[in-house]
Amino acid sequence: MRYISTRGQAPSLSFEDVLLTGLASDGGLYVPETLPQFSQEEIASWAKLNYADLAHKILLPFVEADVSSSELKTMVDETYAGFNHKAVAPLVQLDKNEWVLELFHGPTLAFKDFALQLLGRLMDNALIKRDKHLVIMGATSGDTGSAAIEGCKHSKRVQMFILHPHERVSEVQRRQMTTLMGDNIHNIAVRGNFDDCQQMVKQSFADQSFLNGGQLGAVNSINWARIMAQIVYYFYAAVALGGPHRPVSFSVPTGNFGDIYAGYLAQKMGLPIKQLIVATNENDILHRCISANQYQKHGLVQTLSPSMDIMVSSNFERLLFDLYDRDGAALSELLEGLSNGTADSLEPQRWQKARELFSSHRVDDHTTCDVISQVASQHNYLLDPHSAIGVEAGRVCNQHPEVPMVTLATAHPVKFPEAVIKAGQVEPQLPSHLSDLLERPERCDVLDNDLSIVQHYITSKL
Ligand SMILES: *Cc1c(COP(=O)(O)O)cnc(C)c1O
Repeated sequence: MRYISTRGQAPSLSFEDVLLTGLASDGGLYVPETLPQFSQEEIASWAKLNYADLAHKILLPFVEADVSSSELKTMVDETYAGFNHKAVAPLVQLDKNEWVLELFHGPTLAFKDFALQLLGRLMDNALIKRDKHLVIMGATSGDTGSAAIEGCKHSKRVQMFILHPHERVSEVQRRQMTTLMGDNIHNIAVRGNFDDCQQMVKQSFADQSFLNGGQLGAVNSINWARIMAQIVYYFYAAVALGGPHRPVSFSVPTGNFGDIYAGYLAQKMGLPIKQLIVATNENDILHRCISANQYQKHGLVQTLSPSMDIMVSSNFERLLFDLYDRDGAALSELLEGLSNGTADSLEPQRWQKARELFSSHRVDDHTTCDVISQVASQHNYLLDPHSAIGVEAGRVCNQHPEVPMVTLATAHPVKFPEAVIKAGQVEPQLPSHLSDLLERPERCDVLDNDLSIVQHYITSKL
């Protein structure tokens, strides 16, 4: 399988080339040229597979030109054996036809582990074959950093530099990054905000000369391999609930549109999905776009669900590529207009196409806390704020009460105690593998908000 850029100007690449690069050279994102198709009989035959075996079936067609079946098997087996629940992604029932898919049993207690635990192994495998090394640079406001570090801490081929805004991430989130001690892991606290960190990463990708011939790799969700790994749990949940003979709907707490885009791909690969619901917090550009075809950037709002605090969603471009019939030139023109303010909506018939599958809802902090406390008292189940937004959006947007509605529970509530306490609930305890997190030694360097200082630090460590 080959991968092509959404902007239509960059060369097509193999899976492993896509895995090891960031953006395409034309500024686009890589997507598969074609998607594997699974028949209803084949999907039905997966009902008894465990998570790792299902992942192997679904992911092999995407990687098999570069990764052998047995290599992939070893990697998925190791990845999902590291999760703290036998089912890996257990389904919990809240009410009749209302379900929660718990995606927080990985090492850092958020769904990003599903992809990043595998990504580290895929990268190492590719780099060893090529006898190459990779420098990874990423900016994080919380969840991505720890999941990426956990995923690469054993890598012999990756040197990882994770930038976070100094004193602007929660203690649990900081410690989940700074207490991981691999020699190849470098935590940098930047005296600035998250945007400053992200800006330095972007500038470094655009001009990699400071690495003297070295190569930068990306671990944010522009990396195709992350999207790919997330397709699996849509199949897993649907088959467990009687699919493919019975359709299922999903409500997805959404920030960068990576997770829900994986659900869209699952549907295109043959999984009967009735509705896909984009659940946003007050940073609602996607809700405004899907509900009213209004795509204007607003200022960033800080909410109780910080992992969804975004102004624009990078992976939305991958959906737009399909809505614009995979016409890279037309898409480039649209994106240019949206970013310089001369356009603020999609062509109406393209927007209508998106509405056939997607609906959306915005949930503010007040309602988020109400949902956490309502679900706790009526169903004796503690949601994290991101997942609570998903549950609420699933209820509001549900057009088919006879179809199971599955909300993706993207994080464990212990990671977001502020919302849990505001909702009047008792603060949950860290699970046993993290119970001494607050006592572990930390390693992190604080640097000024200055690109040349950060780049000099990086080269000094290589
Ligand atoms: C990253 C994250 C999200 C948003 O996922 P996207 O793929 O960016 O849409 C939602 N919830 C949690 C807890 C996250 O960490």
